[in-house]
Amino acid sequence: MSISKFGVVGTGTMGNGIAQVAGQTGLDVVAVDIKQDFLDRAKGTIEKNLGRMVKKEKLTQDQADAALGNINFTTDYDALKDRELIVEAATENPDIKFKVFKQLDELAPEGTILASNTSTISITEIAAHTNRTDKVIGMHFMNPVPMMKLVEVIRGLATSDETYAAVDELSKTMGKVPIVVNDYPGFVANRILMPMINEAVYALMEGVGGVAEIDGVMKLGMAHPMGPLRLADLIGNDVCLAIMEVLHSGLGDSKYRPCPLLRKMVAGGFLGNKTGVGFYDYREDPRNPVARSF
Ligand code: NAD
Repeated sequence: MSISKFGVVGTGTMGNGIAQVAGQTGLDVVAVDIKQDFLDRAKGTIEKNLGRMVKKEKLTQDQADAALGNINFTTDYDALKDRELIVEAATENPDIKFKVFKQLDELAPEGTILASNTSTISITEIAAHTNRTDKVIGMHFMNPVPMMKLVEVIRGLATSDETYAAVDELSKTMGKVPIVVNDYPGFVANRILMPMINEAVYALMEGVGGVAEIDGVMKLGMAHPMGPLRLADLIGNDVCLAIMEVLHSGLGDSKYRPCPLLRKMVAGGFLGNKTGVGFYDYREDPRNPVARSF
């Protein structure tokens, strides 16, 4: 099954990136959000990103115009009625996702594949809110979507081989590298990344090293492009804590317990880049933040 009519639900950080890449691929894209303001902001972000690519001569102006022209931004869910595949990239909240999937299941033709970009919510549980469990799958794009090659494809308990094959093919058509995994808390990406970040926070809390030292060891010694504490700030310490909570409760193993210092940072509003202060202080120069003392 070759997909050409594509839908995205939610046009925030991830949704606008997914819509942009789909538009650049030449798919016919419908992008839905709950407010016109959010759609305008998404369109502005895509325009800016495409403009940057034109400046760097990665795209011609005509290609950028065509990519944007392929995307219909709307608050009207009915525009999704003829879609062959819809990727949900709405807020990471189980109740919102369950409601969106129920709604999409009711309006989309029975052959339409419903994918979720969720980082942590069970694909099998999302599928249970539809009458097409075989056509529900995870398509976990990475941030920023236009730059990152990976799509972690997550098979729920009932996901069919046909659905998986269609999503595998589509991911490749979109210039991505799909890697298939099964549905367990955190899938693979966050199951491995988040405990590493959490452990870095433990090392900081216990005084094994300071912020710059911990990040320096991981950058220079392990060739990570960014240290784990800087990455935590970038992702958002609140998001990191929420994912650790899902791993801890979903897998029931104390090795996933969130670090008390991570909890304290979140309680204090030290969320990282988005609040200006996290493990680093971004207020003077966001590109060259200062490592804080703990
Ligand atoms: P975001 O908050 O930037 O955007 C979410 C968007 O969904 C908002 O524009 C919101 O208005 C919209 N929305 C909420 N309810 C809706 C509804 N009922 N119908 C349509 N739109 C609705 O969030 P994000 O960071 O883009 O995350 C989206 C999803 O992607 C989440 O499931 C998240 O776990 C996942 N994800 C995020 C990242 C990341 O780095 N931000 C990485 C991988 C996966």
